[in-house]
Amino acid sequence: MSRAPRPSRRAPPAPPAAAPRPLRLAIPNKGRLSEDAVELLRRAGIPLEGSSERKLFASAMGGRVQVLFLRAQDIPEFVADGTVDAGMTGLDVVAESGAQVAKRLDLRFGRCRLVLAAPDGSGITSAAAVPEGARIATSFPNLAASYFRKHRRKVRIVPVSGACEVTPTLGVADAIVDLTSSGSTLAMNHLAEVATILPSSCHLIAARRPKSEVAEELERLHFALESVLAAHGKRYLLADMPRKALPEVQSFLPGVAGPTVVDIAGKPDLVAIQVVVDESEIYDAVHRLRKLGGRGILVVPIDRMVA
Ligand code: AMP
Repeated sequence: MSRAPRPSRRAPPAPPAAAPRPLRLAIPNKGRLSEDAVELLRRAGIPLEGSSERKLFASAMGGRVQVLFLRAQDIPEFVADGTVDAGMTGLDVVAESGAQVAKRLDLRFGRCRLVLAAPDGSGITSAAAVPEGARIATSFPNLAASYFRKHRRKVRIVPVSGACEVTPTLGVADAIVDLTSSGSTLAMNHLAEVATILPSSCHLIAARRPKSEVAEELERLHFALESVLAAHGKRYLLADMPRKALPEVQSFLPGVAGPTVVDIAGKPDLVAIQVVVDESEIYDAVHRLRKLGGRGILVVPIDRMVA
């Protein structure tokens, strides 16, 4: 009598790994965010091929990255539903959308804040001073509603898609919840900032679980952007110094891991130093190095920094 075959305990073979395909990255299609995103990509070694003006698509890295120009507000949803693999957009629109995405990196441009603002002299100086039933114009209805819920104020949200700052003058709102950066548009419209609801800046976002066929390219993009951000505001300082000045140089130029000190062939009294310095410290550092006998001082920009 033949025995029935025993069920195999081995795990079923893994499906073949999906072939890599271009990483789809969405960036805003207009305004400062768009320009700054293109510039950051260029600095990270990912220049867009051809002109990016008025385009929907651009290719980069010989087709390994495909850049799509989309409305900043649409990017979180497109990332969440997998239409694109990653995106660059404001934290404000990510929070408003409620999209389930991973916030991977603060790109440190497009800084602004979502604020509650009220007409000058309105007496609204805090959330608690907003009268019951007040009309709040905003293009961020979800964030505004949750802010007032948190502060236990019953208000009427008036959704608008732009020109929010004029709504109190037009008589359709008592206060607004809007983005500001310099504050000049609020001031021009006789509005005073009452409270910050959310500080924002452009972020790199991606799916919480990236698709395997683009996971490696996404890591490469993340790493490249991170190294550009790390170099921001840093300069590389090189100088030939008298060897005896080294202890003092080391005391005021700690660098990332202390200055690199190199012997100079045929000049035993001299050493070459190389150090990463904060832009804000360059002015004084160069002066001190000169006073200590430094010569051949060079200050060089840094494109990317990998610790
Ligand atoms: P402001 O510099 O405060 O006068 O802002 C100018 C206009 O740009 C206002 O209408 C703001 O709502 C808008 N704004 C400022 N910063 C941003 C940003 N990072 N993203 C989108 N809109 C912004």
